Amino acid sequence: IRVSRELHPENTVITTAHSHIGEGLTIMAGPDAIESEAHLREIGTAVRDLGATILRGGSYKPRTSPYSFQGVGEAGLAIHRKVADELNMDMMTEVLDTRDVALVGQYTDIFQVGARNMQNFALLKALGQQAKPVLLKRGMSATLDEYLFAAEYIAAFGNPNIILMERGIRGFDAKYTRNVFDVAAVPVLQSMTHLPVLVDSSHAAGKAKFVEPLALAGIAAGAQGYMVELHNEPAKALVDGDQALTTVQFAQLVQQAQAIYDIV
Ligand code: PEP
Repeated sequence: IRVSRELHPENTVITTAHSHIGEGLTIMAGPDAIESEAHLREIGTAVRDLGATILRGGSYKPRTSPYSFQGVGEAGLAIHRKVADELNMDMMTEVLDTRDVALVGQYTDIFQVGARNMQNFALLKALGQQAKPVLLKRGMSATLDEYLFAAEYIAAFGNPNIILMERGIRGFDAKYTRNVFDVAAVPVLQSMTHLPVLVDSSHAAGKAKFVEPLALAGIAAGAQGYMVELHNEPAKALVDGDQALTTVQFAQLVQQAQAIYDIV
């Protein structure tokens, strides 16, 4: 299969305007959801100044409850594009539906496929026909074989620029962490595929105080980058405030992460 390391022993490096994903330690950061231009600019400036090259943020949010905030939609895409350009960062945002691929593609640099859509094969096929890179998160109950076959859909339909991300899988003790961070997935995936493997410790931890140790564990295991969520006032975040780092916590994480990366 196209994504297997057997076929392609060299690591894939995905080059965007501001990042080389798969080479060095890539930092993706931003708010969970796009809330306002001022808010995105404040967080974006802080993370850019600390080394993040990819500005994340959802304008279309996959929420467990239909009554929860669903994202600001196209208005958020426009804000996100503007702020990413101002800050010389790449824009990355989630696309939930095949019907939104063309619209999201007019704005974003990297499409994000969330855990809940990892096996949305129609969406994977549609993104396979796009020219821009795709961040494909691991589904919360996906085996590694299922995960790589999902990536293979994108590759098979024509798009080889795929980034993998471990974000935690379902466990039985969600009281303490939101998901079980499967640290073994990092080296195991890297043995199976040439695609870059990054970690999202925010969605694994679910609580801000555990985001740093899990990110560091992922980097120690060989992750080629990490993604975290921030908020300037976590208690007021419209989505997932419990797991949002402050910029002070993010600054500490960046320093520790680089130290671990340098050892590995
Ligand atoms: C996200 O990164 O905004 C997100 C919804 O993550 P996941 O798909 O991993 O739950």
